[in-house]
Amino acid sequence: MLKTDIRPVIAVDIDDVLFPFVSGMAEYHNHHKGTTLSPEDFTSYNFMDVWGGTQDETNTMIDSFMAADYLRLQPEPGAKEALAHLKNDFDVVLVTARNRLFEANTVLWLRHHLPDLFKDVIFAGNPHDGRAYQPKGIICKELGARLLIDDHPSNLVSAAECGVDGVLFGSKAWSVVDGASTSIKTCPDWPSVIEYIYDEWQ
Ligand SMILES: [Mg+2]
Repeated sequence: MLKTDIRPVIAVDIDDVLFPFVSGMAEYHNHHKGTTLSPEDFTSYNFMDVWGGTQDETNTMIDSFMAADYLRLQPEPGAKEALAHLKNDFDVVLVTARNRLFEANTVLWLRHHLPDLFKDVIFAGNPHDGRAYQPKGIICKELGARLLIDDHPSNLVSAAECGVDGVLFGSKAWSVVDGASTSIKTCPDWPSVIEYIYDEWQ
């Protein structure tokens, strides 16, 4: 690409794009609750729909996992190589729905597994836990990001509404966009994200 002094910003989600959240969460729930959940059981990203109980119980379970020692969990396949590739031409800013309460643990994992491969981490908050949050589209616009890579369609719709292009990452049960938007491209894995960005998107 043409080199300029101003590097374009790409926003990248963390959970289930870089960090294996659903598989880690399933393993954690199985260990603590004696269930036999697998990632394929997570057909909704509102986990109360997957394992039952109340929203408060779900929030407590997620918070407990977020505060746990998950340093051994490896990044999504190809994520590290992809971020290293993007670093040549873009500023990558991570934008997560995680609560800022878990900033220290989140940054610990990121620095361990993806050292020096991102410029900043923004904690947007999450509409499901009743705490404060800001739509990712607004955050992307404020960052000047031209593209959001995220596994959750609603975040990409939010980005599109703010004029930010989107990559729908992965082929998970919840990653389905109804009425495909021309500004949202589905990529099943990191190599296809890189191929799209360099061959089609720019
Ligand atoms: Mg995600």
